[in-house]
This record gives sequence, C-alpha cells and structure tokens, in this order.
Amino acid sequence: MPWGPFLDWIDSQRDRMIALVEYWASISSGTYHLAGISRMAEALRAEFGSLAPAAELVTVPPIAQVNPDGEVAWVSLGPVLSLRCRPRARKRVLLAIHYDTVYPETSDFQTLRRDQQYLLGPGVADAKGGIVVLLIALQALERYVLQSGDTTLGWDVLLNADEEIGSPGSCKLFEEAAARNGLGLLYEPALPSGELAGERKGSANFHLVCRGKSAHAGRHFDEGINAIAAASRIAVQIHALNGRWPGATFNVARIDGGGPLNMVPDNAVVRLNVRYTHAAHEAEIASALAEITNLVSAEGVSCLTHGAFTTPPKQIDATTARLLAQVKESGHSLGLELNHRPTGGVCDGNRLAACGLPNVDTLGVRGGGIHSSDEFLVLESLTERARLSAKLLIGWASGELEWPLGTRSIEQPTSQREETS
Ligand SMILES: [Zn+2]
Repeated sequence: MPWGPFLDWIDSQRDRMIALVEYWASISSGTYHLAGISRMAEALRAEFGSLAPAAELVTVPPIAQVNPDGEVAWVSLGPVLSLRCRPRARKRVLLAIHYDTVYPETSDFQTLRRDQQYLLGPGVADAKGGIVVLLIALQALERYVLQSGDTTLGWDVLLNADEEIGSPGSCKLFEEAAARNGLGLLYEPALPSGELAGERKGSANFHLVCRGKSAHAGRHFDEGINAIAAASRIAVQIHALNGRWPGATFNVARIDGGGPLNMVPDNAVVRLNVRYTHAAHEAEIASALAEITNLVSAEGVSCLTHGAFTTPPKQIDATTARLLAQVKESGHSLGLELNHRPTGGVCDGNRLAACGLPNVDTLGVRGGGIHSSDEFLVLESLTERARLSAKLLIGWASGELEWPLGTRSIEQPTSQREETS
C-alpha cells in the first residue's frame, strides 16, 4: 500500500491544523481552571467525535491537596476524553496527550502571536499542537483503513486534563489502557532541536506538614515551638541530599506557614520535588527523608509527610529500543533525523513504561519555551510530525513495519462493547 496519498492529504490539512491549534490554545485550560478545562473538553469532543462517535468524557476522582495551613482538601480535576476503535484488533496502539496547561486562569500569558514560521502562545507546544498532530495522524490512518479495508490495527485515545500535576486523577485510566494496548504514542513536544526524549527521570512531590506550638511572641516566647524554624532546618537538610545519589535532585520549592509577627508560628509546610534515575533509589530516598523529619520530631515538632513516588523513571527496554528505531527509520524516510536523548522531565510515558507499555512520548510538535511566556511551536512541524505518526500507524496496520511487540501479551476485551468503526 503506497503511503503517498495519505501523507499528501496531511499536507493539505496544514491550514486546518494551524486553525485548530490556535482555537484550542485560545481556550485557557490551566489544570485547576475547571471552567476552561470543561470548554476545552467539549471542543475536543466535538472534533474527535468524527473519529469515534463513542467519544466519552470520563470523570476522574478528586485528589487530596495539602493547603498552606497544612490541612488536606479535596480538589476536582477535569475529565479524560476517551475513544476506542477496533478494540478486538490484534495490533493495538494507545495514543495519548494532555489538554491541561501550566498557565492558570490568572496568567498574563493568554494571547497568541503568529508569523510565517512560529506560533507563540500558552500550550501551543505543550501540548495542544500535539493533540492536533495526533488527530490528523489518526484521520490519515482511518482514510487508509477506509480505502484498504485493512482493520488489523485498533487504537485507544486518552486526552487527560491533569498531566501538568502528575496525572493523579487519570493515572488509573492510563494503567487500564496500558494493559489492552501493545504500544504507546504520546504527543508531548519534541525537544527544541527536534530530538525525541529517551530515558526519563522519575519524579515525586512531597509536602511535609510541621506542627509546633503557638505562643505570644512577647509574653510566652519560651512556651512556643517554632514550626517555621523546624521547616527551615528540614529544608536545609533536604537540600544537602543533592549529590548523594547519582542523577537525583531535591528541589525544596516552597515553604508555607506562619502568621502574625507577634506569634510563635505553630504551622509550616515544606514542599519539594525529587527527580531520580533509578527506581531502586526510592526506598533509600524515602528513608533519608524520614530521618530528617524524625530529627525535628525529637524537638517537639510533629512532622507528617504527604506525597509518594508516583512517577517512576522511564528506562529504554529492548522493545522500546525497537520502537524508537522504527520511529527513527520512518523519520529518516521522511527526511527527518530523529535521535533521542535522556531528559529530566517526566510525562505519562513514565507511567506507561512502568506498566510495561513500550512507548515513544515526544511525537508532538517541535517547539520550545514550554512552561514559560515564550512558549512557541514551529508551524512546519505540525504536518511534519503528523506525517511521521501516520507513517508509523499505516506501517503497522499494513504490515510494512514490523509490529514491535516483543513478547508482550495484551488483554482482550471481555465485554461485547461494539467496535466504533
Ligand atoms: Zn506536556
């Protein structure tokens, strides 16, 4: 089956792709901005509905968050747009990316600017451009399926709204999808050079709630136990852990707490992010943190740790290496040099890899300045990366590309759920 017509069709979609990414990026969808998230979810459902009429918005459970006063509150998250097509197909691919951004409703970075080469705006690269790439690549695949009658490749799509905070609500859906698919394609932006991400570090967030004893700063200072002072000691000692494990970093990002200046503060929250390269270090890091919090407990400050190792490091196993090789070869045939290199950033690819699903996670647009007010995407990468994904999908469907499954077995659906095309 020649790919030419399907890839040519993608080229013809350039203006539509730009219009879609501009429209979606104009909808402010910071993770906690639920009104914006809801508008974005509906806009996505409207567009993806043509691919699979059963596109559904799946509610995710609320998450516990530690407030500045140390109390835990429940916070709602946006839904996951979930689509499934040909669930009984022998070869099945999960395509996923997030539609939340790091920019809150109050962000100053709300407007779009475009010239001949670039589109600048919130979420254009991370990851609304990626959603457009995913959509157009799948539409190209479905054009191939319609024309060839070849239904050997099925797919799942998950678009989640909580990736920027570590996917605490959507992780279960990712784990379930990992079990029923043979490989994963994620549409995080490629690195600015156009390279793909290979290994990724793991990431964990912790919130350490310190409770001391309040007292009048003038009359009864000696009766108080200062939680801020304890939190500061904790922060300094955690910072000193940097360098203990190769590749592991400890970023004490924030301390909340305290109150009036004439009061000994009885509350403080130390918040930190840990990045690490080996899952084997998790237990050692956890016990180092426990040792540090125990020290302040001995001084009369109670310290309760919230958080966990939720995003394990992503390693490149043999199947993932074969998948990356296929991506590289397919890219090469399209005139792209696609190398990959390790990164400290994390994404849902970490989670899928931990579930045993081989995946490539940077198939989105080329761009840069992500998580800043300089975020941009390179316009020509919209069709370029959609062609790459379509080439892979049609290649696996048609058998021109080896299905790089290795020995992994995938779950077959048990329900009588109807195929959507
Ligand atoms: Zn992202």
